[in-house]
Amino acid sequence: MRTPPFDFSRLDYPLAECTLYNIGGPAKVALLPRTDEEVEQAYQWMNAQPGKKLIIGGGSNVLINDEGYDGIVLFTTQLLRMEDLGDHRFYVGSGCELDDMVRQIMLKHNYDGVGGFTGIPGSVGGAIYMNAGTVKGSTCQWMESVNVMKPAGRTTIPMTPERYSYRGQTFCEPGDVILGGTFQFTPAEADQQAIYDRYKQRRLEKQPQGHSCGSVFKNPEGNHAGHLIESCGLKGTRIGGAVISPMHANFIINEGTATFRDVLDLIALAKKTVAKQHGVALEEEVRVID
Ligand SMILES: Cc1cc2nc3c(=O)[nH]c(=O)nc-3n(C[C@H](O)[C@H](O)[C@H](O)COP(=O)(O)OP(=O)(O)OC[C@H]3O[C@@H](n4cnc5c(N)ncnc54)[C@H](O)[C@@H]3O)c2cc1C
Repeated sequence: MRTPPFDFSRLDYPLAECTLYNIGGPAKVALLPRTDEEVEQAYQWMNAQPGKKLIIGGGSNVLINDEGYDGIVLFTTQLLRMEDLGDHRFYVGSGCELDDMVRQIMLKHNYDGVGGFTGIPGSVGGAIYMNAGTVKGSTCQWMESVNVMKPAGRTTIPMTPERYSYRGQTFCEPGDVILGGTFQFTPAEADQQAIYDRYKQRRLEKQPQGHSCGSVFKNPEGNHAGHLIESCGLKGTRIGGAVISPMHANFIINEGTATFRDVLDLIALAKKTVAKQHGVALEEEVRVID
């Protein structure tokens, strides 16, 4: 691999501190473009190099190998453009924190939908990629279009319901880069600040604090991954420095010294036990980067 010709590139870039798990060795090369034009340059250079490539946003849903990433990581965290387009439409760059969008746009204008976003960490780009949300709604449903860097160039894709699903979407293939998107909001009747405060409080009461990726598994149709894991008696199970949270069984917490392998072993244990006792195949929501 050649040395990247950009002032926004870094070598041997530590990844653990870029993730909420606080796990992961360094990336051989990191690219931190600040504009869509720089993403385009970085993307073209990156795709001309041999080896592995990865896109990371806020790092709240990734589990990275302690041995590091022997490839190129493109971060979208510096794409911070936020623009009022009128008629309740806003362009929001991928690097903006999701909670900043909620507070600076949705709460400011009392727009509907705050319940689907409250308390979700990470970036807007990551939220679009994951179609992050709650039972109250998910990211893509509030979007008019999404801007994606693809092999053919930058493109704006209209958002339609068939392009997204529960924690998934079809408009951004692995390796594509979400640059940002246009959100179309609706003024709400209910006080969204009160909803935000209530849901924040509820998370504090029901979800463990500490280094984690939030829910490790997607909820299987008609069920809750956390309930299934809890009913197998796995709450509080520990491997090395990682534990299945005694508070919420779908959270695996890094208590400070957990390795990549510790977390992976707990994931494998939960999957195996739930499959055996309930006949349900749990599917990871967390993105494992090996
Ligand atoms: C305490 C806690 C609570 C959580 N609660 C929720 C919740 O209620 N609901 C929920 O849905 N999630 C929840 N999560 C998970 C996580 O916060 C979301 O999935 C979040 O949207 C991920 O955003 P990110 O920027 O951190 O993405 P990252 O972790 O950086 O990346 C996640 C995936 O998205 C891809 N990606 C990121 N940015 C881009 C981009 N710009 N272009 C292309 N691909 C990209 C990455 O390659 C990776 O595959 C929680 C996590 C934690 C730690």
